[in-house]
Amino acid sequence: MASRRASAIFISLVLVAAAASFWWWLARGPVLAFTAPFDPAFHRLSPEEVVTLPLAVRFDLPLGSPHGALTYNARPFRIARHLGDDLNGIGGENSDLGDSIFAAGMGRVVYAGMPGSGWGKMIIVAHRLPPGDEAGPVVQTVYAHLDQIVVAHGQVVQRGQKIGTIGTGEGTYLAHLHFEVRQGPYINPAEGYADTPLNRLSPETFIQARRGAGAAELGPAPRL
Ligand SMILES: [Zn+2]
Repeated sequence: MASRRASAIFISLVLVAAAASFWWWLARGPVLAFTAPFDPAFHRLSPEEVVTLPLAVRFDLPLGSPHGALTYNARPFRIARHLGDDLNGIGGENSDLGDSIFAAGMGRVVYAGMPGSGWGKMIIVAHRLPPGDEAGPVVQTVYAHLDQIVVAHGQVVQRGQKIGTIGTGEGTYLAHLHFEVRQGPYINPAEGYADTPLNRLSPETFIQARRGAGAAELGPAPRL
């Protein structure tokens, strides 16, 4: 008898505890399961953001002189599935570590950070192109494996303005600049290699086709 009564009391206590827990859980109200802070990556530029981007009427190479003097392309676009150009100073090895990297065209910094997956530090600049440009209304230039970033998210940059320095992707590679040109308004660090070009254009071809245009309107940008 005593043990049956003890069991009944024990079960009652368990039920009361369960009911109290359930009531407490209900009283807390809804709890967001995912509360990550806003990430400027994985963001689509809105139509308003696109039309307020600075207009880029001319592009130059992001390393060396505006013509790319004293640099070479160690792994051109689409060689071995590469989605960009790997630009280096001509000294080889890590001699170009810390060299200045310049914005290829006027635009707005839409990503500046470390997205992971071997990218190291990365900057993405979005540019509005003149109406009728075959590359579309908006392109992004991507600068990766940087040693230093000297611009901030949201900042407007001039063509030729220093935005960072050449790095090693946090010690992953010999120093070089991984440089891409991407079409469209989707901001996403994504990947540097793929079986198809995805939304990437040949950086060298893109810039060669847009060098020299509109120089009289802008004047030469200072080189730091
Ligand atoms: Zn690369």
